[in-house]
Amino acid sequence: MAADPLTLTGDKFRQLDAELPTPNTYRTASGAPGHQYWQQQADYNIKVSLDDATQRLSGQERIRYQNNSPDTLRYLWLLLDANKFRQDSMANRMKTTSVPREGDKANRIDMRSFRSSVEGQRHPGGIELTKVALANGKALNYTVVDTLMRIDLPTPLKSGDDVEFDIHWNYQIHEQKVLGGRSGYEYFERDENRLYEVAQWFPRMAAYSDANGWHNKPFLRHGEFTLEFGDYEVAITVPEDFVVAATGTLENPKQVLTKAQRKRLEQAKDADKPVYIITLEEALENEKRRGKGTKTWKFKADKVRDFAWAGSRKFLWDAQGYQKGATDTLAMSFYPEEATPLWDKYSTASIIHTIDVYNDYSFDYPYPVAISVNGPVGGMEYPMITFNGPRPEINEEDRSDRTWSRRTKYGLITVIIHEIGHIYYPMIVNSDERQWAWMDEGLNTFVQYLAEQRWEEDYPSRGGEPRHITSYMKSSNQVPIMTNSESILQFGPNAYSKPATALNILRETILGRELFDFAFREYAQRWKYKRPMPADFFRTMEDASGTDLDWFWRGWFYSTDHVDISIDDVRHYTVNTQDPDVESQWKRQQHHDKPESITSQRNSEVARFIDGKPELHDFYNEHDQFTATNADRNKYHKDLAKLEPFEQELLKEKHNVYLLDFSNLGGLVMPILLKLSYDDGSFEELYLPAEIWVKNSKQVTKMLLRPPHKLLTQVEVDPYWQTADVDTQNNHYPRQISQSRLQLFKQKKKKNLMQKYAEPLKTEDANSTEGDQ
Ligand SMILES: [Zn+2]
Repeated sequence: MAADPLTLTGDKFRQLDAELPTPNTYRTASGAPGHQYWQQQADYNIKVSLDDATQRLSGQERIRYQNNSPDTLRYLWLLLDANKFRQDSMANRMKTTSVPREGDKANRIDMRSFRSSVEGQRHPGGIELTKVALANGKALNYTVVDTLMRIDLPTPLKSGDDVEFDIHWNYQIHEQKVLGGRSGYEYFERDENRLYEVAQWFPRMAAYSDANGWHNKPFLRHGEFTLEFGDYEVAITVPEDFVVAATGTLENPKQVLTKAQRKRLEQAKDADKPVYIITLEEALENEKRRGKGTKTWKFKADKVRDFAWAGSRKFLWDAQGYQKGATDTLAMSFYPEEATPLWDKYSTASIIHTIDVYNDYSFDYPYPVAISVNGPVGGMEYPMITFNGPRPEINEEDRSDRTWSRRTKYGLITVIIHEIGHIYYPMIVNSDERQWAWMDEGLNTFVQYLAEQRWEEDYPSRGGEPRHITSYMKSSNQVPIMTNSESILQFGPNAYSKPATALNILRETILGRELFDFAFREYAQRWKYKRPMPADFFRTMEDASGTDLDWFWRGWFYSTDHVDISIDDVRHYTVNTQDPDVESQWKRQQHHDKPESITSQRNSEVARFIDGKPELHDFYNEHDQFTATNADRNKYHKDLAKLEPFEQELLKEKHNVYLLDFSNLGGLVMPILLKLSYDDGSFEELYLPAEIWVKNSKQVTKMLLRPPHKLLTQVEVDPYWQTADVDTQNNHYPRQISQSRLQLFKQKKKKNLMQKYAEPLKTEDANSTEGDQ
């Protein structure tokens, strides 16, 4: 029979081969890097200075770019992410506004977003390039294309060769709370200080890979970035009373730290709780200072794919060492007094907890420091350093009076776990968020969920728990996870919680913890310091678990189907013995068990015509319709003799036979998890694999055989809500009555115009006229 293409495309178990790239010597069919896998190397030597008075950043860098690809490169692409803040950037010009014409929100716009538009018009954003030249001084031709720059090489860069060149640049740092973004400064009016979070700040080599060539998509909004690994030496010159936190090891502590600070740092390494390097009192003193000079902080970082830093007079600083396996790191937090006492309590502890858990599921944290900085950015990651936003509420009348909501507390721990987790994914497992947001946000949110659940019981995780994703899963405003970052609708659920939940379901419900953890760790080990693509993840998880998961990737990552499995019907059978004496008895019983007709009930007292008239009785009054006859018995014995012994045995089978009818209303094929309850009060759990849907993905019937004394009373699908089934009402047979609360409310009375007009004017000026404004 010829294959019908329509049937083929509807096959939920069709292998993914057509969707995945063909394996090659760089990336194998097993999902591992191939024997000829290569990646480029970009090493940086950077000198940068920050002018706090003008908030201008000026830098000079020498880049050594090593071409490990088999290709000859005639030009190089670099990222100039700060150009996103240019007036004419693609990011600015593509922005849209939504001001509804009708309804509650008609003709309204949020103040913050309007302020951002107004100030965005005034901000002189964008990078000014003052020198682009080879190390020998020869100027290079270059072309700026939005947030990218192409440098044309005078001689093509051959495979295996390297090139060194210099770039000098400067740009205006923006106020983050006004223009947003993943870096910027925050201004503190009370003490007239700024706190800078500096990221995506220097011209950085774009990635060049076997899978994508140059990764030269512009920086628009959602898709963050990927870069090449390399070694960095960075000298940061700031006002002399600034404290700097940065990617890497501080190389000149004697020049920038006091003796006391250096001693405390030493103590912190083996401490069992965070040690203050700068205390609250010291930070409050420091923020008043206005030294005239500058200091240069020198950092070194090896095998990182980026470099970020933060600086301010305002920082408190605490630190605690953490050693486990190959990890030997210093967890550190930098925060202004506005973040105390919440940050002292939770920030460094959250860093250590994150590393402790992520090491179990990935690889040992390899870097010497792991930093959490509190500043204007809500949450963002860079190698070894993260920016995290939540702060307590301050009572301005009494600044020592500080409170925080449950949301703020767990928001802080959550964002630190998330951002420190990103140092693993994608800062070490180097996926490209500008292409595939889920590869770092989704995988990271999944491990974040594991870490949150190990922080405390019932931790309020936002992603990962199947029951929390159901309303998104059934919404129509969505696209598959396998969608480019900028085209995604509902970014949060799509890139974070849905993939995280899918992986949690894969772990708890499809593969089990042992198989899943082995495979996931294998992926992390294979791809650390390398650049995985989606297929490398899908293939590795199958390769290492020995499980065909194409149906799972197809359903959860390539479609917008949701899970909704319904138990529609349950039929109970016992085997027909074919023995007329037994079966006539059974049929008679069935007949009597049916409800008596209403007419018959009401006629029960009525006298009948043949009552007391035996002459009107005959054979049929003595023998009902179910009567077994010798003819029946003879036929039975004759038929029985024709049967094989095993067939005769089957007729004596006393088992209860149940047929369970299921329908798949959501489209997503998933295992059917069953809880079966029996009339003796016992219950049993049953796992029917997703492959049950392989021939018919819409309806299946499952037969269960149970011993004669096991009578089924109730069937429940997915009793622990493991599969993100969007409608649990159809998960019970028989159906159950749902429970809820009815909220009663009163209509509010509004004042009329006369009442409002008569209201006296509240004012501090007693002389003002009343009611006549
Ligand atoms: Zn993230």
